[in-house]
Amino acid sequence: MEEFTKWMVDRHIRTGSSLIEMTEKEAIGYLMEYVNILSKEFNKMNLPKKKSVVDEGMCEACNGVSAQWLIESLGRDGETYLVCGNCSPPLSNRALSRKQFKNLLQNGHSTSEFLLHSDFYDEDGNALQPCGG
Ligand SMILES: [Zn+2]
Repeated sequence: MEEFTKWMVDRHIRTGSSLIEMTEKEAIGYLMEYVNILSKEFNKMNLPKKKSVVDEGMCEACNGVSAQWLIESLGRDGETYLVCGNCSPPLSNRALSRKQFKNLLQNGHSTSEFLLHSDFYDEDGNALQPCGG
């Protein structure tokens, strides 16, 4: 709530919007605007992944062994990966081998997905080393 108050004061300074007299409708409008900005920020963040144990299906990254984990990119609908214990860390750390990367694409994933994004891999599926911060 403190953050929201700060945002409201900033907004007040920028636009001259009232801080004192506010109808309920206006208040909701401000809140919606704020939530909108927050959700955009959230999508840009390096999101944590949710991991659940599975006991069905093959690993989508190596195709060789049973999957152990279902990894979901939080806030990214439908971007879920069935992977084994070996492939889970490189997927989360964006350090997949070319083979793992290509297997994932063949298993229906795409480079528009957050964890496989072209910012992190070159055209051949080589993991790019992040440079600096
Ligand atoms: Zn695997």
